[in-house]
Amino acid sequence: MTSPLIIGNWKLNGTRQKIQESLSILTKEKIIQYKKHIDVAIAPPIVYLSLVNDYLLKNCTYFSNQTKHKYIELCAQNVDINLSGAFTGDISAAMLKDLGVKYVLIGHSERRKYHKENTTYIAKKITTVKKIKLIPILCIGENQQDYDSGSTQLTCAYQIDSVINLTGIQAFKNTIIAYEPIWAIGNGINVCPKHVQSIHEFIRQRIALHDTHIAKQILIQYGGSVNLNNAIQLLEQKDVNGLLIGAASLNMNTFIQIIQTIE
Ligand code: PEP
Repeated sequence: MTSPLIIGNWKLNGTRQKIQESLSILTKEKIIQYKKHIDVAIAPPIVYLSLVNDYLLKNCTYFSNQTKHKYIELCAQNVDINLSGAFTGDISAAMLKDLGVKYVLIGHSERRKYHKENTTYIAKKITTVKKIKLIPILCIGENQQDYDSGSTQLTCAYQIDSVINLTGIQAFKNTIIAYEPIWAIGNGINVCPKHVQSIHEFIRQRIALHDTHIAKQILIQYGGSVNLNNAIQLLEQKDVNGLLIGAASLNMNTFIQIIQTIE
């Protein structure tokens, strides 16, 4: 199985100074070093990608096959569907690549909610990001109402199927899925790891209906109030291949501790 992927999503938080402070904690005494069995990335606000990338290139690299690699990668929180042109205010996948980005969050519930991103738009983003050879992270998950009415699987199936219907199953090759129940985001709710496992298993089975090889390979992260107390239990679940961490990643000491408990 692949290494777990741990991503810190800083959302709309930080200043130059705060981010520099966080990064210096990261590299202090080389707390986090290159580890083959764990992948780590940070998703700062897009305006700070360059700042973070320069820092990581200077302080968090290793050589493999005579090539320099970052052992902490960059993730973008958003991307546009267009690669260039008259689209004021937008940021393209090509630009993200130019800034050293590896992963891109797509369809995060906050974008679906506040920016009315629909499934067609989300599917287009996945296609564009893959064209540039970045790795899309498709965020899916049910709201409180769906959860209460027992419709979690139905919602996740719809969010996956609508992408497959628009782009084909190949869209999920080398794509990551993040299962994030909306009712557990940003509020400290501890979701039962067994529940998380059952939904991750369902997601894998849904992909397997179209392609068993992709289903076997696909990495499925969990996100929703992950913290120091629940991270390990969640990662111990068979189909949980990583964590997408919001609030707890804003405190660099906590984020580091979470990563250290995995070792
Ligand atoms: C998120 O929004 O991706 C997230 C997981 O946030 P939090 O960890 O704060 O619930």
